[in-house]
Order: sequence, then C-alpha cells, then structure tokens
Amino acid sequence: MSTPLLGRWLMGGASVLAAAGLQCRECGKTFLMGPQYACDACFGPLEPIYDYGALPGPAQLRARIASGPASMWRYADLLPVAHDPETDLQAGFTPLLHARRLGRLLGLERLFLKNDAVNPTWSFKDRVVSVAAAAARRFGFEVLACASTGNLANSVAAHAARAGMPAYVFIPAGLERPKVVTSAIYHPTIVEVEGTYDDVNRLCAQIADERPWAFVNVNLRPFYAEGAKTLAYEVAEQLGWHVPDHIVVPVASGNLLVKITKGFRELQRLRLVEASPAPRVHGAQAAGCSPVARAFREGREYVDPVVPDTIARSLAIGNPADGRYVLQIARSSGGVVEAVSDQEIVEGIALLARTEGIFTETAGGTTVAVLQRLAERGAFGRDETVVAYITGMGLKTLDAAEGVAGRAVTIAPTLRSFEQALHEAVAAGGRAGHGLAGNGHLHGGRLQPAGVPASDR
Ligand SMILES: *Cc1c(COP(=O)(O)O)cnc(C)c1O
Ligand SMILES: [Zn+2]
Repeated sequence: MSTPLLGRWLMGGASVLAAAGLQCRECGKTFLMGPQYACDACFGPLEPIYDYGALPGPAQLRARIASGPASMWRYADLLPVAHDPETDLQAGFTPLLHARRLGRLLGLERLFLKNDAVNPTWSFKDRVVSVAAAAARRFGFEVLACASTGNLANSVAAHAARAGMPAYVFIPAGLERPKVVTSAIYHPTIVEVEGTYDDVNRLCAQIADERPWAFVNVNLRPFYAEGAKTLAYEVAEQLGWHVPDHIVVPVASGNLLVKITKGFRELQRLRLVEASPAPRVHGAQAAGCSPVARAFREGREYVDPVVPDTIARSLAIGNPADGRYVLQIARSSGGVVEAVSDQEIVEGIALLARTEGIFTETAGGTTVAVLQRLAERGAFGRDETVVAYITGMGLKTLDAAEGVAGRAVTIAPTLRSFEQALHEAVAAGGRAGHGLAGNGHLHGGRLQPAGVPASDR
C-alpha cells in the first residue's frame, strides 16, 4: 500500500502503537485521525489505517496480547484509539464453544460458536461502542448518541452511564419492549422515531451536522466500525492462533462481516497466524430484510434498498451502508449471502438452545438457520473448522421464542400429582414427553401434557 504515513497518533496509553490516520475506502485519500467519516473528495467511507511496520514481530505481539486484559482491549495495539477505563465495561473475550451436539446434527466435527450474547449489554455492539466511546472522549465530545435497531441503543446508554455522559439514542418506533427497557434503565433520552431504521439513520446524520454530539455510528463510524475486528482476533486466539475455514456472520449494515474479515486479514499480514487460506465468509440475513442476499443471488454488485418486515429487528436495515463490500467479500472468499424466513429464524433459536444451551435473539436464530441450510447443502467439509457468530441474547426477543419454548406443567405439591404428570408426559410420547421423561435427544424439549394452558408458566 502506498499510503503516506501520517505520523503516529501518540496518546495517553502506550498501547496504541500503529494507528496512523484515516483513509477513504474508495479513493484512498488520507486524513488525520479525527471525528470525520466521509471523504471530502468522493464521499466514500473513511476507515482507520495502521502502520503495521511499527508493531513488534509475531512472538512479541502475541505476548503483549496475552498479557493484556481479558477483554477486547487486549488487542489495543490493533485498535484506532487507546483504552479508556472511564467508559470501559470490559466487552469481549467471550466464550468460543465447540458445538459438539449441534455439530453432530449438522455433520460437522469442528463447529464452534462465538457466544457474543454474554457481553455487558448482551450483544456484540458493546465492542463497537467501546471503541467509539473511547474515541468520543478523546475528541472532547460530551454527549454520546446513536441511530439504533435496538442493541446499539442499549450499549450506548450503558457506556454513557458508565462515563457519566448524557446519551441520546434514536430507535424506530415499535421495537421489542425488552429492547427498549434495556436501554431505558440506564436513563438516556430515548427518541422513538415513527419510521424505519433507515429513517432514523437519515435523521441522525442531519442532527450530527447540527449538534456537537458523538453519534457512534455516524460521525464516529470509522472508530465504531473497527471494534468489530476484535471478533476475528479473539476467535483466532481461542483456536490457538488459527483461522477458521468458514465463518457465518449476520448482516444488517454489513459492518460486522466486513470488519471480521479485515481482522483475519490483519492477523495473516502480521503473521500472528500461520499462512493459511482466508476464511470463506458467509452472510446471514432475514428474508424480510434481505437486500444483500438478493443482490448476491441476482449477481449484482449493488444493493437495492428494501423496506424491512421481519422479526429479526436487529438486522432490519433496508439500506445497508456496507452491503456492497459484503457482496465483494462473500464472492471473493467463496462464501454466500443467504436469507431465511422468520419461521426458520425461530426454529434456529430453538435448535441452538436445545442442542447447545445458548439462548440467542432473532439475529442469532438467523445465523443458526443459515448455518443449518449451508450444512445441509454440503457447503462445509466434515472436518473443516466452521465458526458461527452468535451476536445477541434471547431475553431481548422473548416474544419470538414463545412459540417454540417448552412449557411448564403445573401440579399439586404431592408425589402423586407429579407421578401422574410424568405418566401423562410419557404417554404423550415423541411429541411431548422429552423434557420430563428424559428420553429426548435433538427434538422436543417440550413438556406439554394435555390440559395445561400456555398461561400457566
Ligand atoms: C447490529 C447487529 C448485527 C449486525 O451488525 P451490522 O454490523 O450492522 O451488520 C448482528 N447481530 C446483532 C445482535 C446486532 O445487534
Ligand atoms: Zn474518497
């Protein structure tokens, strides 16, 4: 790359070694580090660039990482801003689980789940906000804000509370109730906009021009975006510094998928992982909002916006900013972008919960459903390493799980009543008896003797 080096961005912490400036992804023009997000020459998106040569060799870099905190900030050398303890909620370093039971069902020996539902506000958004919030303070902003499909608002509100900053979070009207409460509890100003996320986003871009607020995914988007790279670094480190053969990633704006791909590329470049083929990158969308999957299917290079209509609200972005880059990455890596129906999403939530003990939200159900479809189609070799990114948690979309969750059986507090219920459950057999009778494997999970109304829970 013939990028002129812009001079290292020396800051408080000694940890940021390589961040060198911003660069337009379209025309390559470079800029100083700052709260800027669009190229003044071509309006292309800006992203941080690094002086990789300033970093130590692989052994030393690994040692620096290993001695860092058990959070995403262990990779501070590869982030565009220094760690800020005032805003930090210790996002990241989430579990990577070997999914033996789901893997067996799908014919995969080496299926892994990156469980990012266990972040401070229960979605991967804490990673991107952690970087953006640190950048906001670094640039002297006093207010944090965002345009959100729900999870981002949770995370911005929480990080602002932690830093003692006022927060303004903008969401489309009609979000899941739990996703509103999980923002409101931190006491931000919540603005419900009568429109889609894309309307919210457009409005926020206008407000960002008027007010000196740090909109994490508008004027601070280059910093926000980089936080998602840590989902590549962590997976590689947790695999013993190996790169998976396939990854399955949910797609809303597309940033997550683009930056995970960038993260793996950087690891190769820095020789933190053995020279190996880049992972094949698969994108997962909900059919009710699948502009990228459609463009992929139709062989187009550009994404036509859609009006979302899906239960996967956290993926409901009809005009995805990074859609075009997702298409390029999926195609050039040998991956695909697939869309699944709301019914398949709900079944994906149920499948993950009963095979692996992870309760994910609709975005995770989307990922699991696409994973399953690709496995059934033979897209993965039996012993290839496949990583599916589970990005959010099920309690936030409880309504979606209601229909596929098992039910309690209500009994009198007597042994006889229990034996009776057990007998009925077994008699109900394959369909109903698994939970109580304990003979179930990968089906059922339902305990629903006749006469027990759904409300008895
Ligand atoms: C925001 C979000 C995504 C998608 O992120 P993009 O970077 O916008 O593609 C996936 N899963 C969950 C749970 C999210 O909240
Ligand atoms: Zn440009």
